[in-house]
Amino acid sequence: MTRQKICILGSTGSIGTNTLDVITRHPDRFEVFALTAHSKVSELAAQCATHRPRYAAMTDLAQARLLRQQLQAQGLRTEVLDGEAALTELAAHPEVDAVMAAIVGAVGLAPCLSAAKAGKRLLLANKEALVVGGALFMEAVKQGGATLLPIDSEHSAIFQCLPEDRSAWADRIQHIVLTASGGPFRSTDLSQRSSVTPEQACAHPNWVMGRKISVDSATMMNKVLEVIEARWLFDLAPEQIQVVIHPQSIIHSMVVCRDSSVLAQLGTPDMKVPIAYGLSFPERINSGADVLDFRTLAALTFEPPDHSRYPGLALAWSALRAPAGSTAVLNAANEEAVAAFLNRAIRFDQIDSVNQQVLDNTEVGAADALSLEALLSLDQRARLSAQRVIGGLSR
Ligand code: NDP
Ligand code: MG
Repeated sequence: MTRQKICILGSTGSIGTNTLDVITRHPDRFEVFALTAHSKVSELAAQCATHRPRYAAMTDLAQARLLRQQLQAQGLRTEVLDGEAALTELAAHPEVDAVMAAIVGAVGLAPCLSAAKAGKRLLLANKEALVVGGALFMEAVKQGGATLLPIDSEHSAIFQCLPEDRSAWADRIQHIVLTASGGPFRSTDLSQRSSVTPEQACAHPNWVMGRKISVDSATMMNKVLEVIEARWLFDLAPEQIQVVIHPQSIIHSMVVCRDSSVLAQLGTPDMKVPIAYGLSFPERINSGADVLDFRTLAALTFEPPDHSRYPGLALAWSALRAPAGSTAVLNAANEEAVAAFLNRAIRFDQIDSVNQQVLDNTEVGAADALSLEALLSLDQRARLSAQRVIGGLSR
């Protein structure tokens, strides 16, 4: 078997390290070709020592220099590239078979588009890239002949419940149900939302994840991004996407078929499962995750989301019905609001109002979503607007 050469964008993060974990279990199938990171030089150097990739890239030039020194000191031959352009280059490198997009945020869009246009097998964890890119992203996948595989656990679940033949999806799906854990504040008193700290918001009950997605899970903005992500991945109308709270995170999502039959995918909450499926599809390989033991499982429970607890959730459907580009505005606002909350510049309960205000205040023109450049400039406008709103808030 020829080994698949893998490029991991964001290898030092939660998804990146889980991907390396799965890959390490299958040295006969996978070879680490390129790794990229943003700030964690020593972590990336350690990954290079273990996995011996041909290339490593740091987006920051000074950090790249440090990495080069560390690798040379260890006598490693990995070539170090720098700058954002290195990510787009590696994502499209002729020798790369599969790209794991595990960068957090809209900054991942350009390398994703690059991988898509180059016809790669594209494993998408970086949901923000699809929320920002929308139709442009899906068109690049089509034009480039790429294979887009969802890594987000909910979308992997839906994907696993659908036939391999994508042309059969539309006739099959009546609607989908995305499950949400409800995050760490599902049952805390509403009055306490204003005093939530970044540490509390990042302590997710079921999943260990990066800080940004952890905050998104606490506000439910993660589900907003996932509704938008599902709209594009499965070509659905906004009203075909439902969200239900399922605190145990055992059912990862469901497809309700035209005949009212419901298909679900279950498993322990471990990202190695969707990562392994993305890597091996259509086959299945050992992921290293624990198997669900039904004999020790207590109740699986469900409840509708309470909109007074998660006031931002409805923004998913309103942004999808607004002009194309509005989802990019919402994403930019949220990235700025979450960063401000993590820096203790705004309160937890102010994140939703920043998002709502920026969405209301930013005019989106007909051409704003037609190219990468237009989307990036819209993203910048929305960030400036978010910074103004944030500057006007008192903690
Ligand atoms: P982390 O914060 O743990 O990791 C992010 C990765 O991206 C790191 O390697 C980081 O480098 C790199 N990075 C950060 N900023 C930049 C930048 N400006 N330019 C280039 N690279 C950058 O995030 P997660 O692994 O948790 O999440 C990654 C993506 O996957 C997100 O989009 C998230 O929504 C999605 N996802 C994550 C899940 C999870 O369980 N964690 C589940 C489902 C989806 P460095 O560490 O060097 O700073
Ligand atoms: Mg998810």
